[in-house]
Amino acid sequence: MNFQRLNILTIGLVLILVPAGVLGFVAWWHLLLLIPVYLIILGWGVFDIGSQFFMPTFWRGEKGTVSFTFDDGPDAEVTPKVLEVLKEEGVKAAFFVIGKNAEKHPKLLKQIMDEGHVVGNHTYNHAYVFSKSAAEKQVTEGQDAIEKIIGKKPNYFRPPFGVMTPEIASAIKREKCSVIGWDLRSQDGRIRTKEATINRVKAHLKKSTVLLFHDTNPTTPDALREIIHLCKQNGMKIVSLPEQSGIEPYFNQT
Ligand SMILES: [Zn+2]
Repeated sequence: MNFQRLNILTIGLVLILVPAGVLGFVAWWHLLLLIPVYLIILGWGVFDIGSQFFMPTFWRGEKGTVSFTFDDGPDAEVTPKVLEVLKEEGVKAAFFVIGKNAEKHPKLLKQIMDEGHVVGNHTYNHAYVFSKSAAEKQVTEGQDAIEKIIGKKPNYFRPPFGVMTPEIASAIKREKCSVIGWDLRSQDGRIRTKEATINRVKAHLKKSTVLLFHDTNPTTPDALREIIHLCKQNGMKIVSLPEQSGIEPYFNQT
């Protein structure tokens, strides 16, 4: 099921049920049932990034592989510590940065690139958007802020909160970006203790391939180190997101 099919199906059902209601074949409440059913399916599409309801999304890799992704940075305090752990453990990660934060810390963005990681767009300031123009502004300004610093336009885009809407999907298509989700949210931003993050990841690690962290939470670097050790102990193959997805991280510069 996707957004287009849902709309076609709903219109089709309305066109059948309205005349059927007029002719007395079905009760009117049957027509009203369409509203909650439509909203439930739409809600699934909006909040579940793996649903691919609005557009194709990379959110799961091959079983046994694992990639590390970090959202919401760069952050002056946490990002350097995350980079240090990644360097010590020999792991290449993906950073979905907020354009405004990248402008504040251009040196950190360059360091991320210099150390062999990749950068993706996570909008300009992580705002909730409700209109097409606001969504376009968020996506495009995020792209521009990153390009100004690293000299390349990112292909990877991750929507804030994993929430996709028709407006955001259309803004992403306009920039021709690839949407990147995850199949395990570490919840490090919410739980905020090292142990809780480790336990959450540990409980789901065997069936997870794309891990989501935040390089804005002070307890993340220490949790990260232990989680990388866990992956290695479990014989998981730690790969970079480009390797895992087969998707180029930047647009070719012509
Ligand atoms: Zn975010």
